[in-house]
Amino acid sequence: MNRIYILKRLILDLFYPNRCGMCGCEIPFDEYLCNTCVNLFSSADKNVFIPYVDHFTAFAVYDSFGKEFAGRFKNDGDGYAISGAAYLIYKALVKGDSSVLNETDIITYVPMRKRDIYKRGYDQCRLIANETAQLADKPCIGLLKKIRNTKPQKTLTAEERSVNVKDAFSCLKEKTVKGRSVLILDDISTTGSTLSEAARTLKNAGAKTVNAAVFAKTRLYFDSVSADKKPD
Ligand SMILES: [Zn+2]
Repeated sequence: MNRIYILKRLILDLFYPNRCGMCGCEIPFDEYLCNTCVNLFSSADKNVFIPYVDHFTAFAVYDSFGKEFAGRFKNDGDGYAISGAAYLIYKALVKGDSSVLNETDIITYVPMRKRDIYKRGYDQCRLIANETAQLADKPCIGLLKKIRNTKPQKTLTAEERSVNVKDAFSCLKEKTVKGRSVLILDDISTTGSTLSEAARTLKNAGAKTVNAAVFAKTRLYFDSVSADKKPD
């Protein structure tokens, strides 16, 4: 883990004792949630197949507790929850297949439309990706651009979602991507179709491998995609 990041948190803790972002109890300086609260998340360690994504990592299942926490960084502009989400994704990456972080050259994120960023006031995926990159000591670079309007994915069926995001992205930095291993971060994944399209765009631009990591994936997705389903 990045030493400057740890030092910053240690100094902050001297003045403001660190507290759990959910229940408020005092916790060690380098944590964001207490163990009791972390254990309330449903673990999502089952691997699933997403086309064009070489390896997928999710910290938790998007159930009621996951939703409550995600609401803080998605809707409430809670910076502590954004840092917490990045920390939990980083821990899930460290705990998972070690090759993912080892081989990552660049961390990037699923882009939001300018209009949506303006409405919300911030881009939580970019912020989470930035913090995860700091923890992992990797560069965070915006590699993708949304090039056409799409409908909100949550209003669509699984089939409609794939069609909705088809050709929705372009790669901003083909020279940077060529031959590199990219890790895409997103906050919530439902069917994986957005991540799949983002990964396809990066592979078309010459990326060697494209892995993906999210804070949470929905139960629907968790249950509907077989763990041992492999590409042909
Ligand atoms: Zn707690």
